[in-house]
Amino acid sequence: MNELDALYRELILDHSKHPQHFGLADEDAEPGHSGTSHQKNPVCGDEITLRARVDGETIADVTWEGRGCSISQASASMLADLVAEEGLSRAEAVTLIEGFREALRSRGKLELDEEVYGDAAALSGVSKFSARVKCAMLAWVALEDAIAKA
Ligand code: ZN
Repeated sequence: MNELDALYRELILDHSKHPQHFGLADEDAEPGHSGTSHQKNPVCGDEITLRARVDGETIADVTWEGRGCSISQASASMLADLVAEEGLSRAEAVTLIEGFREALRSRGKLELDEEVYGDAAALSGVSKFSARVKCAMLAWVALEDAIAKA
């Protein structure tokens, strides 16, 4: 294992042990519209419930709950962190999700840019393991669905 792989593994473990933005926010506590999505990955037993609050065109807040493998939980934590830091618009979030999906389906050919994806860039390596791609994608599919409902 090279140094970068070791660092990435560390980040994934860290997020799965200390999940960020965990616990669903009250739907009516803040202005805007909330959308909630529940996603399951039966192959691995992962579950994610994610809530996105959209205020105007901006995604103001992403909170989530879930259980399952460390990749699925770390991915949700990294995604929620990323959205919180960037204050993304709906359109930007959709572009980000599409780029993530493309990289994860590339079988190791595409790397996620750390400048764009933050800690979630650590999930690039998952694309070499097709059985785990769904684990990493789960929260991102949930966000896509939650935004559409908000
Ligand atoms: Zn999993």
